[in-house]
Amino acid sequence: MTPKIERYLAEHKPPTPCLVVDLDRVAENYRILREVLPAARVFYAVKANPAASVLDLLVALGSSFDAASIYEIDACLAAGAGPERISFGNTIKKERDIAAAFARGVRLFAFDSLPELDKLARSAPGAKVFCRLLMSNEGADWPLSRKFGCEVEMARDLMVRARHLGLDPYGLSFHLGSQQRDPGQWDIAIGKTAMLFSALDEAGIELRMLNLGGGFPVHYREAVPSIDEYAAAIHGALARHFGNRVPETIIEPGRCITASAGVIETEVVLVSCKGYGEELRWVYLDVGKFGGLAETAGEAIRYRIEAGRPDGAADGPVAIAGPTCDGADILYETAGYRLPLDLAAGERVRIHAAGAYTSTYASIGFNGFPPLTEHYI
Ligand SMILES: *Cc1c(COP(=O)(O)O)cnc(C)c1O
Repeated sequence: MTPKIERYLAEHKPPTPCLVVDLDRVAENYRILREVLPAARVFYAVKANPAASVLDLLVALGSSFDAASIYEIDACLAAGAGPERISFGNTIKKERDIAAAFARGVRLFAFDSLPELDKLARSAPGAKVFCRLLMSNEGADWPLSRKFGCEVEMARDLMVRARHLGLDPYGLSFHLGSQQRDPGQWDIAIGKTAMLFSALDEAGIELRMLNLGGGFPVHYREAVPSIDEYAAAIHGALARHFGNRVPETIIEPGRCITASAGVIETEVVLVSCKGYGEELRWVYLDVGKFGGLAETAGEAIRYRIEAGRPDGAADGPVAIAGPTCDGADILYETAGYRLPLDLAAGERVRIHAAGAYTSTYASIGFNGFPPLTEHYI
Protein backbone atom coordinates (compact mmCIF):
# COMPACT_ATOMS: atom_id res chain seq x y z
CA MET A 1 0.00 0.00 0.00
CA THR A 2 1.54 3.30 -1.02
CA PRO A 3 0.76 6.57 0.82
CA LYS A 4 -0.81 7.87 -2.39
CA ILE A 5 -3.30 4.98 -2.53
CA GLU A 6 -4.00 5.31 1.20
CA ARG A 7 -4.84 8.99 0.69
CA TYR A 8 -6.94 8.32 -2.38
CA LEU A 9 -9.05 5.69 -0.61
CA ALA A 10 -9.53 7.92 2.45
CA GLU A 11 -10.51 10.98 0.42
CA HIS A 12 -12.65 9.41 -2.31
CA LYS A 13 -14.07 6.31 -0.64
CA PRO A 14 -14.69 4.82 -4.11
CA PRO A 15 -17.48 2.23 -4.44
CA THR A 16 -16.20 -1.33 -4.04
CA PRO A 17 -14.88 -3.56 -5.40
CA CYS A 18 -12.24 -1.44 -7.09
CA LEU A 19 -8.58 -1.59 -8.05
CA VAL A 20 -6.45 1.46 -7.30
CA VAL A 21 -3.04 1.61 -9.01
CA ASP A 22 -0.28 4.05 -8.07
CA LEU A 23 1.46 4.89 -11.35
CA ASP A 24 4.51 6.22 -9.50
CA ARG A 25 5.05 2.73 -8.17
CA VAL A 26 4.76 1.27 -11.68
CA ALA A 27 7.47 3.70 -12.81
CA GLU A 28 9.61 2.79 -9.80
CA ASN A 29 9.28 -0.95 -10.51
CA TYR A 30 10.31 -0.37 -14.12
CA ARG A 31 13.27 1.75 -13.03
CA ILE A 32 14.48 -0.88 -10.54
CA LEU A 33 14.41 -3.58 -13.21
CA ARG A 34 16.34 -1.39 -15.65
CA GLU A 35 18.87 -0.71 -12.93
CA VAL A 36 19.53 -4.33 -11.93
CA LEU A 37 19.48 -5.72 -15.49
CA PRO A 38 20.85 -2.75 -17.48
CA ALA A 39 21.82 -4.73 -20.58
CA ALA A 40 18.40 -6.32 -21.07
CA ARG A 41 15.81 -4.57 -23.19
CA VAL A 42 12.46 -4.55 -21.35
CA PHE A 43 9.38 -5.77 -23.23
CA TYR A 44 6.52 -5.24 -20.77
CA ALA A 45 4.09 -8.18 -20.92
CA VAL A 46 0.95 -6.23 -21.70
CA LYS A 47 -1.41 -8.92 -20.44
CA ALA A 48 -0.40 -8.27 -16.82
CA ASN A 49 -2.21 -4.94 -16.91
CA PRO A 50 -3.08 -3.35 -20.25
CA ALA A 51 -4.65 -0.15 -18.85
CA ALA A 52 -4.02 2.83 -21.13
CA SER A 53 -2.43 4.81 -18.27
CA VAL A 54 0.05 2.01 -17.63
CA LEU A 55 0.95 1.72 -21.32
CA ASP A 56 1.24 5.51 -21.72
CA LEU A 57 3.59 5.66 -18.75
CA LEU A 58 5.77 2.79 -19.96
CA VAL A 59 5.96 4.26 -23.47
CA ALA A 60 7.23 7.49 -21.92
CA LEU A 61 9.80 5.56 -19.86
CA GLY A 62 11.17 3.91 -23.02
CA SER A 63 9.81 0.40 -22.55
CA SER A 64 9.10 -2.01 -25.37
CA PHE A 65 6.10 -4.35 -25.31
CA ASP A 66 5.34 -8.05 -25.47
CA ALA A 67 1.89 -8.31 -27.03
CA ALA A 68 -0.20 -11.48 -27.23
CA SER A 69 -2.87 -10.40 -29.71
CA ILE A 70 -3.58 -7.86 -32.42
CA TYR A 71 -5.72 -6.06 -29.82
CA GLU A 72 -2.79 -5.65 -27.45
CA ILE A 73 -0.65 -4.51 -30.40
CA ASP A 74 -3.22 -1.84 -31.20
CA ALA A 75 -3.32 -0.76 -27.55
CA CYS A 76 0.48 -0.30 -27.60
CA LEU A 77 0.37 1.63 -30.86
CA ALA A 78 -2.44 3.82 -29.48
CA ALA A 79 -0.25 4.54 -26.45
CA GLY A 80 2.44 5.81 -28.82
CA ALA A 81 4.82 2.85 -28.99
CA GLY A 82 6.28 2.55 -32.48
CA PRO A 83 5.93 -0.89 -34.10
CA GLU A 84 9.69 -1.42 -33.65
CA ARG A 85 9.03 -1.54 -29.91
CA ILE A 86 6.47 -4.34 -30.15
CA SER A 87 7.03 -8.09 -30.12
CA PHE A 88 4.16 -10.36 -31.14
CA GLY A 89 5.12 -12.86 -28.46
CA ASN A 90 2.25 -15.34 -28.57
CA THR A 91 3.17 -18.62 -30.26
CA ILE A 92 -0.50 -19.12 -31.20
CA LYS A 93 -1.66 -16.55 -33.74
CA LYS A 94 -4.27 -16.38 -36.48
CA GLU A 95 -2.51 -15.87 -39.79
CA ARG A 96 -4.64 -12.82 -40.56
CA ASP A 97 -3.52 -11.28 -37.24
CA ILE A 98 0.11 -11.91 -38.21
CA ALA A 99 -0.58 -10.13 -41.51
CA ALA A 100 -2.31 -7.26 -39.69
CA ALA A 101 0.61 -6.87 -37.27
CA PHE A 102 3.07 -6.95 -40.17
CA ALA A 103 1.03 -4.30 -42.01
CA ARG A 104 1.29 -2.10 -38.89
CA GLY A 105 5.09 -2.45 -38.99
CA VAL A 106 5.67 -5.15 -36.36
CA ARG A 107 8.78 -7.17 -37.31
CA LEU A 108 9.42 -9.40 -34.30
CA PHE A 109 7.46 -12.64 -33.84
CA ALA A 110 7.54 -15.71 -31.59
CA PHE A 111 6.82 -19.26 -32.70
CA ASP A 112 7.29 -22.81 -31.42
CA SER A 113 6.16 -25.04 -34.28
CA LEU A 114 6.52 -25.61 -38.02
CA PRO A 115 2.91 -24.71 -38.93
CA GLU A 116 3.29 -21.37 -37.12
CA LEU A 117 6.62 -20.75 -38.87
CA ASP A 118 4.89 -21.39 -42.22
CA LYS A 119 2.25 -18.79 -41.34
CA LEU A 120 5.00 -16.29 -40.49
CA ALA A 121 6.88 -16.98 -43.74
CA ARG A 122 3.70 -16.32 -45.72
CA SER A 123 2.32 -13.34 -43.81
CA ALA A 124 5.37 -11.66 -42.26
CA PRO A 125 8.06 -12.23 -44.94
CA GLY A 126 11.59 -11.45 -43.82
CA ALA A 127 10.56 -10.75 -40.21
CA LYS A 128 12.78 -11.49 -37.21
CA VAL A 129 11.57 -14.66 -35.54
CA PHE A 130 12.47 -16.28 -32.24
CA CYS A 131 11.74 -19.82 -31.18
CA ARG A 132 10.31 -20.49 -27.74
CA LEU A 133 11.79 -23.45 -25.89
CA LEU A 134 9.82 -25.73 -23.63
CA MET A 135 11.17 -25.43 -20.09
CA SER A 136 10.32 -26.97 -16.75
CA ASN A 137 8.23 -24.49 -14.74
CA GLU A 138 9.45 -26.01 -11.48
CA GLY A 139 9.51 -23.40 -8.74
CA ALA A 140 6.73 -21.30 -10.25
CA ASP A 141 3.50 -20.61 -8.34
CA TRP A 142 1.68 -19.93 -11.62
CA PRO A 143 3.25 -22.37 -14.13
CA LEU A 144 2.63 -22.02 -17.85
CA SER A 145 2.67 -25.79 -18.35
CA ARG A 146 3.47 -27.64 -21.56
CA LYS A 147 1.26 -25.35 -23.60
CA PHE A 148 4.14 -23.26 -24.95
CA GLY A 149 7.54 -24.02 -26.39
CA CYS A 150 9.18 -26.93 -28.16
CA GLU A 151 12.07 -29.28 -27.41
CA VAL A 152 15.62 -28.18 -28.18
CA GLU A 153 16.09 -30.63 -31.10
CA MET A 154 12.97 -29.34 -32.79
CA ALA A 155 13.94 -25.72 -32.15
CA ARG A 156 17.25 -26.32 -33.90
CA ASP A 157 15.57 -27.66 -37.03
CA LEU A 158 12.97 -24.91 -36.98
CA MET A 159 15.59 -22.16 -36.89
CA VAL A 160 17.35 -23.72 -39.89
CA ARG A 161 13.98 -23.93 -41.60
CA ALA A 162 13.25 -20.27 -40.78
CA ARG A 163 16.31 -19.27 -42.80
CA HIS A 164 15.17 -21.42 -45.76
CA LEU A 165 11.77 -19.77 -45.60
CA GLY A 166 13.32 -16.31 -45.96
CA LEU A 167 12.76 -15.30 -42.35
CA ASP A 168 15.46 -13.86 -40.07
CA PRO A 169 16.29 -16.50 -37.40
CA TYR A 170 16.91 -13.96 -34.67
CA GLY A 171 16.96 -15.73 -31.32
CA LEU A 172 15.50 -17.98 -28.66
CA SER A 173 13.09 -17.44 -25.81
CA PHE A 174 11.79 -19.22 -22.76
CA HIS A 175 9.45 -18.46 -19.89
CA LEU A 176 10.08 -20.21 -16.59
CA GLY A 177 6.56 -19.76 -15.25
CA SER A 178 5.00 -16.80 -13.55
CA GLN A 179 5.77 -15.99 -9.90
CA GLN A 180 8.96 -18.04 -10.31
CA ARG A 181 10.46 -18.24 -6.83
CA ASP A 182 13.74 -19.93 -7.73
CA PRO A 183 16.35 -17.68 -9.39
CA GLY A 184 18.46 -20.81 -10.07
CA GLN A 185 16.00 -21.82 -12.81
CA TRP A 186 17.57 -19.23 -15.12
CA ASP A 187 20.92 -21.01 -14.95
CA ILE A 188 19.41 -24.24 -16.24
CA ALA A 189 17.52 -22.47 -19.02
CA ILE A 190 20.39 -20.24 -20.11
CA GLY A 191 22.68 -23.29 -20.20
CA LYS A 192 20.27 -25.05 -22.56
CA THR A 193 19.99 -22.06 -24.86
CA ALA A 194 23.78 -21.59 -24.99
CA MET A 195 24.17 -25.14 -26.29
CA LEU A 196 21.58 -24.44 -28.95
CA PHE A 197 23.32 -21.19 -29.91
CA SER A 198 26.49 -23.28 -30.53
CA ALA A 199 24.66 -26.01 -32.42
CA LEU A 200 23.09 -23.43 -34.72
CA ASP A 201 26.39 -21.64 -35.14
CA GLU A 202 27.75 -24.90 -36.55
CA ALA A 203 24.79 -25.01 -38.91
CA GLY A 204 25.77 -21.56 -40.16
CA ILE A 205 23.08 -19.65 -38.29
CA GLU A 206 24.26 -16.95 -35.96
CA LEU A 207 21.54 -16.13 -33.45
CA ARG A 208 21.74 -12.65 -31.94
CA MET A 209 19.06 -12.53 -29.24
CA LEU A 210 18.13 -14.37 -26.06
CA ASN A 211 14.72 -13.66 -24.52
CA LEU A 212 14.81 -14.50 -20.81
CA GLY A 213 11.05 -14.25 -20.35
CA GLY A 214 9.15 -12.91 -17.37
CA GLY A 215 8.39 -14.67 -14.12
CA PHE A 216 10.04 -12.26 -11.67
CA PRO A 217 8.02 -12.65 -8.49
CA VAL A 218 6.08 -10.34 -6.23
CA HIS A 219 5.84 -10.32 -2.44
CA TYR A 220 2.31 -11.54 -1.77
CA ARG A 221 1.70 -13.31 1.53
CA GLU A 222 5.05 -15.10 1.48
CA ALA A 223 8.45 -13.47 1.03
CA VAL A 224 10.35 -14.05 -2.24
CA PRO A 225 14.03 -13.62 -3.16
CA SER A 226 14.97 -10.03 -4.01
CA ILE A 227 15.19 -8.85 -7.61
CA ASP A 228 18.95 -8.46 -7.09
CA GLU A 229 19.22 -12.21 -6.57
CA TYR A 230 17.52 -12.78 -9.94
CA ALA A 231 19.80 -10.28 -11.64
CA ALA A 232 22.88 -11.93 -10.09
CA ALA A 233 21.69 -15.40 -11.15
CA ILE A 234 21.07 -14.20 -14.71
CA HIS A 235 24.38 -12.31 -15.02
CA GLY A 236 26.27 -15.28 -13.59
CA ALA A 237 24.57 -17.74 -15.93
CA LEU A 238 25.14 -15.58 -19.03
CA ALA A 239 28.84 -15.25 -18.22
CA ARG A 240 29.19 -18.96 -17.41
CA HIS A 241 27.42 -20.29 -20.49
CA PHE A 242 28.14 -17.62 -23.12
CA GLY A 243 31.54 -16.35 -21.95
CA ASN A 244 32.51 -13.28 -23.94
CA ARG A 245 29.83 -13.95 -26.58
CA VAL A 246 26.76 -12.85 -24.60
CA PRO A 247 23.99 -12.05 -27.09
CA GLU A 248 21.55 -9.16 -26.91
CA THR A 249 19.06 -9.97 -24.13
CA ILE A 250 15.37 -9.24 -23.67
CA ILE A 251 13.19 -9.61 -20.59
CA GLU A 252 9.39 -9.70 -20.56
CA PRO A 253 8.30 -8.74 -17.05
CA GLY A 254 4.59 -8.38 -16.35
CA ARG A 255 3.70 -9.16 -12.76
CA CYS A 256 6.69 -7.44 -11.16
CA ILE A 257 5.96 -4.16 -12.96
CA THR A 258 2.33 -3.64 -11.95
CA ALA A 259 1.34 -6.00 -9.11
CA SER A 260 2.83 -4.13 -6.16
CA ALA A 261 1.42 -0.84 -7.49
CA GLY A 262 -2.20 -1.92 -7.00
CA VAL A 263 -4.65 -2.53 -4.16
CA ILE A 264 -8.15 -3.95 -4.41
CA GLU A 265 -10.56 -2.36 -1.97
CA THR A 266 -13.41 -4.72 -1.22
CA GLU A 267 -16.37 -4.87 1.16
CA VAL A 268 -17.33 -7.72 3.45
CA VAL A 269 -20.79 -8.92 2.40
CA LEU A 270 -21.28 -11.65 5.00
CA VAL A 271 -19.43 -13.43 7.80
CA SER A 272 -21.03 -16.75 8.77
CA CYS A 273 -20.43 -20.26 10.08
CA LYS A 274 -21.67 -23.58 8.71
CA GLY A 275 -22.72 -25.06 12.06
CA TYR A 276 -22.93 -24.34 15.78
CA GLY A 277 -19.66 -24.14 17.65
CA GLU A 278 -17.52 -24.07 14.54
CA GLU A 279 -14.34 -22.08 14.68
CA LEU A 280 -14.02 -21.61 10.91
CA ARG A 281 -15.87 -18.54 9.65
CA TRP A 282 -16.73 -17.99 6.02
CA VAL A 283 -15.99 -14.46 4.89
CA TYR A 284 -17.76 -13.46 1.68
CA LEU A 285 -16.28 -10.43 -0.09
CA ASP A 286 -17.78 -8.37 -2.91
CA VAL A 287 -14.90 -9.49 -5.16
CA GLY A 288 -14.11 -13.09 -6.07
CA LYS A 289 -12.77 -15.37 -8.77
CA PHE A 290 -15.10 -13.82 -11.35
CA GLY A 291 -14.38 -10.28 -10.20
CA GLY A 292 -10.71 -10.47 -11.15
CA LEU A 293 -9.10 -12.84 -8.65
CA ALA A 294 -8.74 -15.72 -11.12
CA GLU A 295 -5.20 -16.41 -9.95
CA THR A 296 -6.56 -17.75 -6.66
CA ALA A 297 -7.36 -20.91 -8.70
CA GLY A 298 -5.86 -23.81 -6.77
CA GLU A 299 -5.00 -21.17 -4.11
CA ALA A 300 -1.88 -20.63 -6.22
CA ILE A 301 -1.46 -16.90 -5.76
CA ARG A 302 -1.99 -16.06 -2.11
CA TYR A 303 -2.66 -12.35 -1.75
CA ARG A 304 -2.08 -10.49 1.48
CA ILE A 305 -5.55 -9.64 2.75
CA GLU A 306 -5.81 -7.03 5.46
CA ALA A 307 -8.73 -5.80 7.52
CA GLY A 308 -7.03 -2.83 9.15
CA ARG A 309 -6.63 -3.78 12.81
CA PRO A 310 -3.66 -2.98 15.05
CA ASP A 311 -0.96 -5.66 15.31
CA GLY A 312 -1.89 -8.35 17.80
CA ALA A 313 -5.66 -7.92 17.42
CA ALA A 314 -7.49 -11.21 18.03
CA ASP A 315 -8.09 -13.19 14.84
CA GLY A 316 -9.27 -16.65 13.82
CA PRO A 317 -9.31 -19.03 10.85
CA VAL A 318 -11.43 -18.14 7.83
CA ALA A 319 -12.38 -19.40 4.43
CA ILE A 320 -12.68 -16.51 1.98
CA ALA A 321 -15.10 -16.50 -0.95
CA GLY A 322 -16.60 -14.23 -3.57
CA PRO A 323 -20.18 -13.00 -3.88
CA THR A 324 -21.43 -15.03 -6.85
CA CYS A 325 -23.67 -18.10 -6.88
CA ASP A 326 -20.96 -20.37 -8.30
CA GLY A 327 -19.43 -23.00 -6.04
CA ALA A 328 -16.05 -22.41 -7.68
CA ASP A 329 -16.07 -18.81 -6.43
CA ILE A 330 -13.97 -19.59 -3.36
CA LEU A 331 -10.68 -17.76 -2.96
CA TYR A 332 -9.10 -19.64 -0.06
CA GLU A 333 -10.24 -22.61 1.97
CA THR A 334 -7.02 -24.47 2.80
CA ALA A 335 -4.29 -21.81 2.68
CA GLY A 336 -4.66 -20.96 6.36
CA TYR A 337 -6.02 -17.41 6.22
CA ARG A 338 -6.95 -15.62 9.45
CA LEU A 339 -9.02 -12.46 9.86
CA PRO A 340 -10.13 -10.44 12.92
CA LEU A 341 -12.73 -12.10 15.14
CA ASP A 342 -14.88 -8.93 15.11
CA LEU A 343 -14.91 -8.64 11.30
CA ALA A 344 -18.43 -7.71 10.17
CA ALA A 345 -20.49 -7.13 7.03
CA GLY A 346 -20.08 -3.65 5.57
CA GLU A 347 -16.43 -3.35 6.53
CA ARG A 348 -13.77 -2.66 3.95
CA VAL A 349 -10.90 -5.10 3.45
CA ARG A 350 -7.79 -4.61 1.31
CA ILE A 351 -6.16 -7.07 -1.06
CA HIS A 352 -2.55 -6.03 -1.57
CA ALA A 353 -0.24 -6.31 -4.59
CA ALA A 354 -3.25 -6.80 -6.85
CA GLY A 355 -2.20 -4.58 -9.77
CA ALA A 356 -1.36 -7.47 -12.14
CA TYR A 357 -3.59 -10.19 -13.59
CA THR A 358 -6.78 -8.91 -11.95
CA SER A 359 -8.63 -6.19 -13.91
CA THR A 360 -8.71 -8.11 -17.19
CA TYR A 361 -9.60 -11.41 -15.56
CA ALA A 362 -12.92 -9.97 -14.33
CA SER A 363 -15.97 -11.50 -16.01
CA ILE A 364 -18.47 -9.37 -17.89
CA GLY A 365 -21.63 -9.50 -15.84
CA PHE A 366 -21.60 -13.01 -14.38
CA ASN A 367 -24.53 -12.97 -11.91
CA GLY A 368 -25.00 -9.37 -13.04
CA PHE A 369 -21.87 -8.13 -11.26
CA PRO A 370 -19.95 -5.55 -13.33
CA PRO A 371 -16.19 -5.98 -13.95
CA LEU A 372 -13.75 -4.56 -11.44
CA THR A 373 -13.66 -0.74 -11.44
CA GLU A 374 -10.17 0.69 -11.97
CA HIS A 375 -8.55 3.91 -10.76
CA TYR A 376 -5.09 4.93 -11.97
CA ILE A 377 -3.61 7.70 -9.87
C1 LIG B 1 2.73 -13.79 -19.32
C2 LIG B 1 3.99 -13.69 -20.06
C3 LIG B 1 5.02 -12.88 -19.56
C4 LIG B 1 4.94 -12.16 -18.24
O1 LIG B 1 5.14 -13.01 -17.18
P1 LIG B 1 5.24 -12.47 -15.69
O2 LIG B 1 5.33 -13.70 -14.88
O3 LIG B 1 4.01 -11.69 -15.42
O4 LIG B 1 6.45 -11.63 -15.60
C5 LIG B 1 6.17 -12.77 -20.32
N1 LIG B 1 6.31 -13.42 -21.49
C6 LIG B 1 5.34 -14.20 -21.99
C7 LIG B 1 5.56 -14.88 -23.29
C8 LIG B 1 4.16 -14.37 -21.30
O5 LIG B 1 3.21 -15.16 -21.80
